[in-house]
Amino acid sequence: MSHTAELIAVGTELLLGNIANTDAQDVSRALSELGINVYFHTVVGDNPERLKQAVAIAKGRADVIITTGGLGPTFDDLTKQTLAEAFGRKLVYDAEQAEIIESFFKNRLHGAAMTENNLRQAMLPEGCVVFNNGCGTAPGCAFEADGTHVLMLPGPPRECRAMLEACAVPYLKELSQSEIRSHNIHIFGLGESAVEARLHTLMESMENPTLAPYAKESEVMLRLTARARGESEAEALMAPVLEQVQAALGDIIYGIDVQSLENRAVELLRESGKTVAAAESCTGGLIAKRLTDVPGASAVFPGGVTAYSAESKISLLGVAPGVIEKYGAVSRETAIAMAEGARGLFGSDIGLGVTGIAGPDGDGSGLPPGTVFIALAFDGGAYCRKPGIFRADDRSRTRNMSASHALDMLRRFLTGLQVEPDVF
Ligand code: ATP
Repeated sequence: MSHTAELIAVGTELLLGNIANTDAQDVSRALSELGINVYFHTVVGDNPERLKQAVAIAKGRADVIITTGGLGPTFDDLTKQTLAEAFGRKLVYDAEQAEIIESFFKNRLHGAAMTENNLRQAMLPEGCVVFNNGCGTAPGCAFEADGTHVLMLPGPPRECRAMLEACAVPYLKELSQSEIRSHNIHIFGLGESAVEARLHTLMESMENPTLAPYAKESEVMLRLTARARGESEAEALMAPVLEQVQAALGDIIYGIDVQSLENRAVELLRESGKTVAAAESCTGGLIAKRLTDVPGASAVFPGGVTAYSAESKISLLGVAPGVIEKYGAVSRETAIAMAEGARGLFGSDIGLGVTGIAGPDGDGSGLPPGTVFIALAFDGGAYCRKPGIFRADDRSRTRNMSASHALDMLRRFLTGLQVEPDVF
């Protein structure tokens, strides 16, 4: 049976914006891994009337209610009392918990004086499952009433996380036989709406597994998610959909469950035993940055240069002055000469060269801002890509997209895919 949970965070400081509701993030993440749907997060102040209202609403739309906060010893910690009342349970004194609280003061708080109100924490709903608090004094608990499972966790994130892992997750696992598994499909070369258009019919007809697109900085990710009784059942549900997605999108999928385009590129370089160097103008070192973000990149990336001016393209990379004069600093020919220059300078198998106008202003050549040429040189020739003109007012995106194109060309070259239609 699949469950629907609602999280109720109790704490006026959350409503005032003094702290962020990180407990909700932790609890939701754990529930999603367990295959339990979460449709609502509620935040309510330390006010029993409003908490009662929130519980009444949650009861009508969820069969698992999880509260965080308000379990402490002070007068405003009213969660247990209010929830017990809402579900017709008495609070009873739990002698074992009282002892645990007393020994916590003695041992962990080095004999700090325990005020009487701390023992209020040992009052728990009758017949509940007690969640011991390994990091603090307030125990949590769980009980079932009127077909609803109520779980109460402490507010301090460290305590909440520890109790979630040690007590709440095992409790919920017992309830829920299903779990969620997913695969992330990474795509470069098509926008989110175009990806969706290709898969619209498939997406619309799906219930389990589901397929959802996420637009990222310079690429699109599809998440395929299945709910099943175990890993192999989930994989069996996802396998045919994965095949359909691969058939619809082909080689613009650069990886499944990979970290990034640069991770994939480094992995392929390592596998093929090849090295790459970069000569960058408008990307200003971004390709080098992204490649060196990947641990172990030193084995495949000897280095890169940022050659921004025409003079540095000539002196550092050996681009012939005549090439720049004849074709311009932003041209197919210059990009290729830069890529070849990078190969020569670093003795690498492959060279990447990028030259363009990041915007917002033009460079006086008459080319529109957002024009970029990206080249890949190897011992058999070179390829050059000129993506559609990027937006002149988004310099950062132009640079990011240009670096991604370079990494994508590298990935295609190393996997034997067509890089661009023409080789020079
Ligand atoms: P205590 O025994 O410390 O009183 P408690 O269970 O009663 O624990 P609260 O008093 O509600 O919890 O909150 C204690 C502290 O925990 C808050 O001041 C805040 O710093 C943090 N906290 C509470 N709720 C959350 C939340 N949802 N997300 C992140 N932090 C929280």
